[in-house]
Amino acid sequence: MVRSLSVLVLALLVSPATAAEPKPVVFVILWFDTEDYILPASDDAALQVADWLTKEEIKATFKIVGEKARTLEKRDRKDVIAALSKHEIGYHSNYHSVQPTPAMYLSALGWDEGVAEFDRREKPGYDDVKRVFGQSPTCYGQPGSSWGPQSYGAMRRWKMPMYLDSGSHVGLDRKPLYYGGVFTVYHHEHTLRTDLGGEKDVEKAEARFVEARRKILADGGGLVSIYYHPCEFVHRQFWDGANFSKGANPPRERWVKPEAKTPEESKTAYDSFFAYLRFIKRFADVRFVTATEAAALYRDTAADREFTADMIRTIAERAAKELDFQRHDGYALAPSEVLYLLNEFVAAKRPKAVKLPPTPFGPSEPPRAMAATVTTDASQFARTADDVADYLRKHGRVPSTVWLGSTAVTPEAYLAAVAKVVLATADGKPLPESIELKPAALLTTKYVQDDNPKLWGWVIFPPDFRAPAMMELAKRQAWTLKPAVLRP
Ligand SMILES: [Zn+2]
Repeated sequence: MVRSLSVLVLALLVSPATAAEPKPVVFVILWFDTEDYILPASDDAALQVADWLTKEEIKATFKIVGEKARTLEKRDRKDVIAALSKHEIGYHSNYHSVQPTPAMYLSALGWDEGVAEFDRREKPGYDDVKRVFGQSPTCYGQPGSSWGPQSYGAMRRWKMPMYLDSGSHVGLDRKPLYYGGVFTVYHHEHTLRTDLGGEKDVEKAEARFVEARRKILADGGGLVSIYYHPCEFVHRQFWDGANFSKGANPPRERWVKPEAKTPEESKTAYDSFFAYLRFIKRFADVRFVTATEAAALYRDTAADREFTADMIRTIAERAAKELDFQRHDGYALAPSEVLYLLNEFVAAKRPKAVKLPPTPFGPSEPPRAMAATVTTDASQFARTADDVADYLRKHGRVPSTVWLGSTAVTPEAYLAAVAKVVLATADGKPLPESIELKPAALLTTKYVQDDNPKLWGWVIFPPDFRAPAMMELAKRQAWTLKPAVLRP
């Protein structure tokens, strides 16, 4: 009886006549860069905010600095650690503003050295945060605007599912994206905050939230990103600005405390924040999510998928027209994934299906210069396809230069050619006897900024800091760029 009733209920739930479209949801990811290890009052601020959110049943994500975790331990703040542990824990670098910060030390390095150096400097802090809070940090975001593409390589090693921050080095129409194979919310349209100065600030922020909610619901659902720093509730100046501005790097014994807010100013700050969050929470279509939950909502459904010959033909048709990311029904592909699929199809001689591995990284080095047009034959092209397939499998990235015997071509030119070869051989025909390769460009590089002073405006950088070679490296990682799609 019970069973047949539940079957009936199930049948009613799934019957097409009664199935309704899922209602759009405004997902709100609330995150805190928890970083100030100098002003002890910021420990209490973290406690107060975390406790209040727990009481309100809002789960937030606290991105914690390694030195902050160690400092809480040294100050024996078990209460703060316990309160934060009820939320999700992310990572916000080992020392945050002690010089050199990540973009500075990464700016002088290529891909492999940069990934290894980021791992050497930052992994100990990751391990400390994990030990102190008893959770593996689920996301990373850089200190200030100290961004570098090599951090994504280390995150993949650490199996971290999300890059979460606010900045402009990389962005796709201000929507969530995949970059370096990592789910990324960064240059995000709906990054909303309230200033903490009282009712007038909150009113303005509420109006902005209402407008964002309207747009998101009209879009069929989406994400709002809201961030704070616990120290903002208790200080008048950031802890690091008081010590590490413009490249300064004083020893620990000369670190000074930043100016604190008065108790009245702090109360206004808390009240503003609490009022804003209560306002957001009362909408029935708003749901708070953590980094892990956001990454699951936007999970990459191309990874591990089997691509049939028909699907690969469609992918090749698009790649033969332009080298861009591709949106298909239910998944999206980055150019490096398109290269993997099409090349594997040629190298394995038209298999029934190709399985996509984790997103191959972009090339580590600039390509060798190539001639305006390179012509090769079927035999050489087939041998090169084998070599590129082996390279992709062994190194997990796009080769910087593709060799047709002793002739160098760019990976972009090779991708355009392999797309045409897939189409030419789709009906079981042999490889064409003569194959032309022409210089080509990726359209996705436009989503990564050229080096410019605005990227490095953080007060902690030396004023003349620039990173042209690193931003070129970041553009080569545009091979990995594609939209992140909200799953129903
Ligand atoms: Zn920070």
